[in-house]
Amino acid sequence: LQYILGECEFMGISFKVDPRVLIPRPETELLVETVLNVIKEEEQSGMINGLDIGTGSGNIPIALVKHDPRIRMAAIDVSSGALEVARENASRNNVFSRIEFIKGNVFEWFDQVQTRRFSFIISNPPYIKTGDLAGLPQDVQKEPQNALNGGEDGLRFYEHIVKNAEKVLQPGGSLFFEIGEAQGKSLENLLTRQGSFVNILVNQDYNQRDRIVQAQLKI
Ligand code: GLN
Repeated sequence: LQYILGECEFMGISFKVDPRVLIPRPETELLVETVLNVIKEEEQSGMINGLDIGTGSGNIPIALVKHDPRIRMAAIDVSSGALEVARENASRNNVFSRIEFIKGNVFEWFDQVQTRRFSFIISNPPYIKTGDLAGLPQDVQKEPQNALNGGEDGLRFYEHIVKNAEKVLQPGGSLFFEIGEAQGKSLENLLTRQGSFVNILVNQDYNQRDRIVQAQLKI
């Protein structure tokens, strides 16, 4: 439906969508709200730099900078088509100058020399198991496969990001993920085993399903 309309709403903001991007989901609003709340509590003044991995339509960075004037974002995606949509969404919402869009593959990006440090990383990565893709509802099958496919166990992106996050996170910086409802325990284990994260939390969505994970890099 949203592809036919060419538009959808996320966090009270209107986004252009087409088959090059995943349709933003209501659950993802919870992810964005979690970041906004954590940042509000910290009450830092000055700029806060965040990184969004797998930005798709750009819904996450655009909603974040719109809701907190201190935030600046970098947003990476492997798909040039998705980045075109994201850039258009940033322009039409008047926040283009506050978001840097990066075309890149996250599985290579951390290994390129990264000199920058972010206050937080946010990601709603592909998290469906490859074997489950064919059984998804028809409307979801119209969405880009590379926005959904999380590899054989669905955890491919989480594993890579957890392993590499400390290369670009400030000490004490936070990591925020949206996850599939059956992935809470796996994420908790991943983050614990990595050894560099504290305050690991798995929170539920409005249907009481595990949905949001947050963790803080040790200082
Ligand atoms: N970041 C976008 C969203 O949350 C796209 C996510 C994706 O394509 N996996 O909707």
